[in-house]
Amino acid sequence: MAISERRPLVAGNWKMNGLRPSAVEFSRIMAGSAGLAGKVDLMICPPATLIRAFAEQAGTSGIAIGGQNCHAEPAGAFTGDISAEMLKDAGANAVIVGHSERRTLHKETDAEVCAKARAAWRGGLIAIVCIGETQAEREAGQTLDVLGRQIDGSLPDGVTAANLVVAYEPVWAIGTGLTPTSADVAQAHEFIRQRIVEHHGVAGNSVRILYGGSVKLSNAKELMAVPHVDGALVGGASLKAEDFLGIAAVYR
Ligand code: PEP
Repeated sequence: MAISERRPLVAGNWKMNGLRPSAVEFSRIMAGSAGLAGKVDLMICPPATLIRAFAEQAGTSGIAIGGQNCHAEPAGAFTGDISAEMLKDAGANAVIVGHSERRTLHKETDAEVCAKARAAWRGGLIAIVCIGETQAEREAGQTLDVLGRQIDGSLPDGVTAANLVVAYEPVWAIGTGLTPTSADVAQAHEFIRQRIVEHHGVAGNSVRILYGGSVKLSNAKELMAVPHVDGALVGGASLKAEDFLGIAAVYR
């Protein structure tokens, strides 16, 4: 599939940020999104407490709402957790799984991430599976080995363009202001594409691969122009409507 046939996606990961008054910022995103309709898909992944309100606010605007994590089970004695079915019930369309902050702070393994991606599908959600190397792994020349292992271990069988988005997020680039060179991003994304196609067939050509890690207004154009970069997963810069929309406007 030609690159242009994959509609870009710019998704904002609000992490543990946002209270009810954040509806104002979300309104600004909605207001500014009209000019981008049909050119780029937009998604906001607010904290779970805001999913229902944002989903109701989003209405028919076309802005998708995502969760930031889910449990692998649909229900049960898992205090403090949230299932894919609950996210769907609250109005989410997607869920991020395997974010590096979950892999690092909550010691999530590839097998657990894979189970969560499967749970996302069971619950009717798109799974946004994050992968990426640490600084030490990059310096040791292990980037592609790590990405290969994470792809093999984190993606369930049954991948389609409609049920999966992969986000390449070098751990050392998240929230640091550092970004890989365009050549490094190109190498990683091409490798990810090949690996998905190898293991999951031609559907892998249609799966969107986002770049994430310190995407901002000043670097979005260059990063989004890299082959096999089908959009961005944006952390810090997604909290301000102006910055988030400015990044998405690369696709205007
Ligand atoms: C993220 O946490 O997914 C992320 C990409 O963060 P930031 O844009 O702040 O680096």
